[in-house]
Amino acid sequence: ADTTPTDPTPADPHQNPAVDGSELIRFDKVTKRFGGNTVLDNLCFSVDSGKHVTLIGPSGSGKTTILRLLMTLVKPDEGTIKVNGDYLTHEERGGKLVPAGEKHIREVRKNIGMVFQQFNLFPNMRVLQNIMEAPVQVLGLSKDEAEARARELLDMVGLADRCNDYPSRLSGGQQQRVAIARALAMRPQVLLLDEVTSALDPELVAGVLDVLRDVARTTDITMLCVTHEMNFARDISDQVLMFDGGKVIESGSPDKIFGDPDHERTREFLSAVL
Ligand code: ADP
Repeated sequence: ADTTPTDPTPADPHQNPAVDGSELIRFDKVTKRFGGNTVLDNLCFSVDSGKHVTLIGPSGSGKTTILRLLMTLVKPDEGTIKVNGDYLTHEERGGKLVPAGEKHIREVRKNIGMVFQQFNLFPNMRVLQNIMEAPVQVLGLSKDEAEARARELLDMVGLADRCNDYPSRLSGGQQQRVAIARALAMRPQVLLLDEVTSALDPELVAGVLDVLRDVARTTDITMLCVTHEMNFARDISDQVLMFDGGKVIESGSPDKIFGDPDHERTREFLSAVL
């Protein structure tokens, strides 16, 4: 028999995102309403760690709401969300599931980074400081560690020479690349991308998508991406989820969804956007 001892030390998830294909995100019967409008309707889906999943579907079908739920910017009316085995929306106390407190939510959220449509950089901080801020304040990294990490990421997004600029001095595409570096500096397990190129001038889109292709190719990070850039989605996705009316109506590989979808609704949507 093989008597080789196994390493008993579990990997620090912030340093080594699990890429064993285990389930990282699970939505279970999630319903979200705004007033009388049911935006997500008893939604169930899961994302395995290390995968790149793209959400497509008509405007208003609830895609952004899914990312906002994961960021705890909004809360579900019904159902549960799990990230890395922990309930995001609930916590276990005394053997019972109760609505999650702020501390629990902050801990689970450390695993999640998000890049928004409108970059949202801190306007009063230079580029380098924008990236260092959260690792120092939230993770407790030393300034030196945070700076080394920030410089490495700026290099990766092609902006090493802009570290002392204020965001307003950069183009939209450059600001968005800084925002990507800022999200990655937290070493999240999941990167949420919410139509990150839709506020950009057309000539700046490719540079941002190239950076994201690099991230997808060279890191283990799990990506959940809402985008109208169908070629990009096709390139980077392991799985595409097609939303309509607050539900996933179809999911599959990009070849399947873009090439030979089962649903008429998917076909209609794609012929309108492609
Ligand atoms: P998508 O990303 O697919 O375009 P969203 O998730 O942004 O869709 O929005 C889904 C629906 O929820 C839309 O009808 C939108 O108007 C509504 N909605 C989203 N956020 C709010 C909010 N904070 N208050 C009221 N309605 C909202």
